[in-house]
Amino acid sequence: MVKQQIEKLLILQDRDQVVRRLSGQLDSIPQEIQTYESEIEAEKQALEDTKAMLQRLEVQRNDLEMQVGSAQEQINKYKNQQLQVKKNEEFQALTHEIELAEQKISDWEEEVIALMLEIDAESEEFSKRESVFDSSKSKTQNKISQLEARRNEVEGSLKEAEANMNESKAPMEARFLTVYDRLASRIKLPVIVAVENQKCEGCHLRVSNDSLEQARKGEELTTCDNCGRVVYLAS
Ligand SMILES: [Zn+2]
Repeated sequence: MVKQQIEKLLILQDRDQVVRRLSGQLDSIPQEIQTYESEIEAEKQALEDTKAMLQRLEVQRNDLEMQVGSAQEQINKYKNQQLQVKKNEEFQALTHEIELAEQKISDWEEEVIALMLEIDAESEEFSKRESVFDSSKSKTQNKISQLEARRNEVEGSLKEAEANMNESKAPMEARFLTVYDRLASRIKLPVIVAVENQKCEGCHLRVSNDSLEQARKGEELTTCDNCGRVVYLAS
């Protein structure tokens, strides 16, 4: 009597394990898809950031070149003024202004050279990343498509497994089903386990002589003294 119910419980437990395994797989898929989508997004963002930085560097360079240009014009004006001044002091003062402007031009030109080197290095890096972006994006999108296909597949299998599990509940006495549901909701499966060498196969601890005797008689459901799982004698 109990033996038959144990057999039914074991079938139910097997099917329950299949359901749980498939549910677990299904639960992890959205996270995996999200991870791949974030990878694409991060790479896209990195490209955009590099592009924006290149633009800023170009703006700086243009500004400096304009400053050099206007300083140059200023120098030309000073030189023209020098042709017109009469006093030596005024001439000297203009020479001083010209020297100051030339010094500024020289500093700015050095900055321009440093910027150009930086722009070259960043452009090279940008081109490298841009050239692999499309292919790596499509590879990642492939992985996402595979996961989506996998999700559909697992959803189908899960429906089937749930139907199988419910089917195995149908012929079972309500009180046994209640015991199973209660155990399975709070203890990690399996909750219907054999006793081997007087040890519970669930918690691997020794069951008491009384419990062992009760299991041997097989008149009622026996539970492990330690973990509360239903135990039965395998042989
Ligand atoms: Zn146990």
